[in-house]
Amino acid sequence: MKLIMLGAPGAGKGSQAKVLSDKYGIPHISTGDIFRANIKEGTELGKKAKKYMDQGLLVPDELVCDLVVDRIKQSDCANGFILDGFPRTIPQAESLDAALDQIDEAMDFAIDLEVADEVIVDRMGGRRACLKCGATYHLINMKPQKDGICDRCGEALVLRDDDKPETVKKRLTVYHDQTKPLIEYYRKKGILKEFDGTKLPQEVTNDIIRMLGE
Ligand SMILES: [Zn+2]
Repeated sequence: MKLIMLGAPGAGKGSQAKVLSDKYGIPHISTGDIFRANIKEGTELGKKAKKYMDQGLLVPDELVCDLVVDRIKQSDCANGFILDGFPRTIPQAESLDAALDQIDEAMDFAIDLEVADEVIVDRMGGRRACLKCGATYHLINMKPQKDGICDRCGEALVLRDDDKPETVKKRLTVYHDQTKPLIEYYRKKGILKEFDGTKLPQEVTNDIIRMLGE
């Protein structure tokens, strides 16, 4: 089962992808994780990617495509995979389709989580992150046990630049310009499935599983 998660930043793609990955036993491939690993290791790609991410901008297509295509050719992806954060643009989607076409494969579904912009700005403003161990929290639905302190490692939690309202609004503008056309792209291919992303996470999961099958 080869899935793409679509939706604005903060729509819940990552959390849904994680649950679906466990449920169906297929890897959750997040470009965010690939970038973070590269940034942590200080690779050239990581340094380049960081420059864009720090400004709330998207990492250019050419930096992303080969990396993802190599990843989905690995053996753990034989039964499928879930892409989260890629493709973000029509050229990326076309490169992905071309790469899959070469190995006689195609994506099965594009899962679109619909959430209004205002809801996203509110949601992301409540996020808190531990920069030391990578744990994430939310002031409303995933509070740490002690206010402002990481449960796992005791580090002080911060509101990441990525989650600040001004950055989120910038990212939403980029999303509407570049990524929303993807919804039409996958609609035309007949594999688009839309879901109400404002429901509780568990309800959204149930809706998706009902569509995909047990
Ligand atoms: Zn921590």
